[in-house]
Amino acid sequence: MAFDVQASFLPGCAPCAALWETACCVRVARPGALHMKILVLGSGADGGLPQWNCRCPQCTAMRRPGRMPRTQSSVAVSPDGERWILLNVAPDIAQQIRVNLALQPPAQLEASCAAEIDTPIKALVLMDSHWQSVGGLQNLRESTGMDVYATPRVFEDMIDETPLRHVLTNYGSVRWHLLPVAGSELTADFQIPGFEMLRFTAIAVPVATAHPLRADEDAVGQSIALSVQDLDSGLSFVFAPLLPDIAAAELAWLQTADCVMVDGRGESAVEGLPGRLILTHLGHGSPLLDEHSSACQRLAGQDIELAFDGMVIDL
Ligand SMILES: [Zn+2]
Repeated sequence: MAFDVQASFLPGCAPCAALWETACCVRVARPGALHMKILVLGSGADGGLPQWNCRCPQCTAMRRPGRMPRTQSSVAVSPDGERWILLNVAPDIAQQIRVNLALQPPAQLEASCAAEIDTPIKALVLMDSHWQSVGGLQNLRESTGMDVYATPRVFEDMIDETPLRHVLTNYGSVRWHLLPVAGSELTADFQIPGFEMLRFTAIAVPVATAHPLRADEDAVGQSIALSVQDLDSGLSFVFAPLLPDIAAAELAWLQTADCVMVDGRGESAVEGLPGRLILTHLGHGSPLLDEHSSACQRLAGQDIELAFDGMVIDL
């Protein structure tokens, strides 16, 4: 049986506000629904919204009862609603799993005499090596074996420049898979075992912002967008969460997709795309989150959506 998670928790619900761990999840059965699903785990920029040490107007407003916070951006994709692949692993991953039943250990484990450890999360794809995209790996170190896909450059950053190498080597079990996006190779098609219904393409994109690890470099493969195609329906989804400057090369990919989810900072470049358009990676200074701003009102007139934590997209 497949399920759609329609709301991770209910805004304004007293028990939810009082006890995050007992979030009121809504699960709706969709028997036989075997098509690609995208679950937004986080829709905020680095630091989330509200950011823990910020009292700007938008962070302050977000702390009021009934408001739904934005954790740091990442999504999960699934061919069937049962098995999931994470696209980026934000430092908020433990909280994101806690409020999304679809990512929690299968209920049948309780009735089983077998091992009590299992997860619907079967693989991870890292889009870049910014801490907001990879920091959650340390929270998954109890995994009994996680398949992680990344470009050589992201792998090098993770292993050479962050403490994650030591954490994952000594506390966890990770199998690395390199995506050959480097040098003159700007794209790489790949598949993930167990997910033969989905075809992935990693696409090199320019580095979004000065990288704290490699501030003076812009190497191919340091940042990617990802296209995911459902081979059964033929429909495709492109995820580019860290891409404020969208040029012709990236637009060509976005124009072929049935649904795109892109960095909210690049909003003006993607107006008029033929597919469903959703903006994510929304920072606390973004005018898109101010309903009185001209930017926000312009979106409303163009059918452009803002991602939110717990959002489900059925393709
Ligand atoms: Zn703020």
